[in-house]
Amino acid sequence: MSSSVALLATVFVSCLSSAAVLGYLARCKVAGLRRWLAAHCLFAVASGVLFLVHARPSAAVMLASCMLVLGGALLMLQGCRAFVGKPPCLTGEHLALGVCVGAVMYWTWESPNVSARAAVMSFALAYARIAVGWTLWSSRVRERPQYGHWLVLCAALVGGIVYFARGVLNAFFADPAISWPTHVAPDFAFLGISILSLPLLSIGLVMVANDRLMQQVEKLATFDELTGALVRRAFMIRGTTLSQAARAARTELCVAIIDIDDFKTINDRHGHATGDRVLADFGAEVHRHMRAGDVFGRLGGEEFAILFPQTSMAEAARLVGSMLTAVSCPQPAAKGKLTYAFSAGINECAQAESLSDALAGADAMLYRAKRAGKCRIELARTERASHPANDMARSAY
Ligand code: GH3
Ligand code: MG
Ligand code: MG
Repeated sequence: MSSSVALLATVFVSCLSSAAVLGYLARCKVAGLRRWLAAHCLFAVASGVLFLVHARPSAAVMLASCMLVLGGALLMLQGCRAFVGKPPCLTGEHLALGVCVGAVMYWTWESPNVSARAAVMSFALAYARIAVGWTLWSSRVRERPQYGHWLVLCAALVGGIVYFARGVLNAFFADPAISWPTHVAPDFAFLGISILSLPLLSIGLVMVANDRLMQQVEKLATFDELTGALVRRAFMIRGTTLSQAARAARTELCVAIIDIDDFKTINDRHGHATGDRVLADFGAEVHRHMRAGDVFGRLGGEEFAILFPQTSMAEAARLVGSMLTAVSCPQPAAKGKLTYAFSAGINECAQAESLSDALAGADAMLYRAKRAGKCRIELARTERASHPANDMARSAY
């Protein structure tokens, strides 16, 4: 088996395996993944056909393979843009593809020139490789594992630079007497390196796609979809860290437990969907009033907790009070906005043994607020006095 046949066979098998893995992942909603799958299928067909007719590909087969490879490279690049949330298609690239296709056709049929065609293909693929590498690298999320991005970048750079060198070799140093340039040692070496970097690039793409899926799963396991609050487990982990830090540094940390009033009645009267809208509205209002560093969690059903680091009880009560005012007496301009109320209990964490103890203290205050007639905020210890927001919200609700 000659080296070029071995090369084609390797590329065919690797594209087929990458396509199989991407096909398996394609049922998950990851932007760009289907384009990567289509690109690998095109590469597999091109390398498979060239493998079958390797002895002497006809002009038609050569042309068809070049089209498949160019189309695949463009799909790969578009997939990367879709993956990072950018518009995948650029008019300039479609025009450039048209020019490349015209040039390849011209140097295949009209005025056969293998080196000129190889130069066009190499420059186009060099651009696609570099653009793929840069698109993914420049949009990586720094908090996530970077291994896949490094692999894509290295494979893209190696492929891109070597394709570019091959383009220069064929454009300026070609021997017109040679009809099949891959049999010339340097050209074959360049082609081999750039083609063999494709499997590495594909593995990198599979890694970044897999990490995107992990991110989606982690998000689902961390945040409540309806309200954007942390789920109970994530809130407790974050809260425990914060309360330990506050106790060690002797800084203030307040916790509020909030329970929407008569939520069952809202569900019963207006339906479950309206109840969900109330929860989503509540989540949005809390996020609107929260400061950077505050931590918002859904403890279950219509019960929530908010941690206010480096905040006094009075300031925490003011913040929760403005949330209560916003949901129970919305601005006249907010026509059709849902109106509901909540009760809240606030406690100081630094005084408590643990976060659970602090939450229990806040919970006791919440029940005090419920017993006292709902739509109000109760503070633990000496600052128990009813907050001014209570009167405002109660009078409007
Ligand atoms: P209180 O003022 O004393 O807090 O009374 P309440 O009606 O708000 O409280 P209760 O515990 O009696 O009812 C809570 C209801 O919340 C019961 C449950 O079906 C409903 N619920 C829990 N989670 C959801 C949810 O995600 N969406 C909707 N729509 N309802 C929910
Ligand atoms: Mg309730
Ligand atoms: Mg409740």
